[in-house]
Amino acid sequence: MELSYEFIGIITIYSLIFVSILIIIALGIGVYSFQKKKIIFPRFVLFVLDMFYAPTKWICSVFSIKKTLVDEIMIEIRNATLVEDFKKVKDNKIFIGPQCMRHPECKARCDPQIGYICMGCGKCDYARLKKECEKYNFKMFIVPGNSFVMKIIRKYKPKAAIGVACFGELNESMHDLSFIIPVQGVTLLRDGCFNTAANVEEIIEKMRL
Ligand code: SF4
Repeated sequence: MELSYEFIGIITIYSLIFVSILIIIALGIGVYSFQKKKIIFPRFVLFVLDMFYAPTKWICSVFSIKKTLVDEIMIEIRNATLVEDFKKVKDNKIFIGPQCMRHPECKARCDPQIGYICMGCGKCDYARLKKECEKYNFKMFIVPGNSFVMKIIRKYKPKAAIGVACFGELNESMHDLSFIIPVQGVTLLRDGCFNTAANVEEIIEKMRL
């Protein structure tokens, strides 16, 4: 009996060491790809970071590495691996942005299925994005939370999507959507739940792809 406990202990320690080495290799490759803008072994990096997302974040916090790094790497890699498929789609595309980018005095009505219906009043960036969406053939949605994303996908069955959100939410949505359609993501410049902002030019550039 004692022998089997010892055996289990040894297996556990070796497994932990193996997983830690795997995470460190994936993180190292991810950081290199991120900094050099040259994506290498994307499937391996995404597989490991998806599989061990929470332990990777924990390792980053232990070494005082900025907490958004894991999400940034994963978003960058997903953008790079899905961009060619995204470019091929010419119709039925959607743009999904967060409600926190609206002006604090926004009067848009919130539909329980598809989120806020922007009237293009001109008080925030969504007025310009609405026009650009019409120009580049995207349906625009402003959502109060991630749960709306799948409702919109089920209702409109788009062929491609651009999403804007904070690091964690964007990474999670891109992970879910990447199994269904090609997606492109843009992170918020200013995080939070109120009066946030994104790089509008970067979003429009993605619409033009
Ligand atoms: S442009 Fe649209 S989202 Fe922005 S404040 Fe006006 S109605 Fe609201």
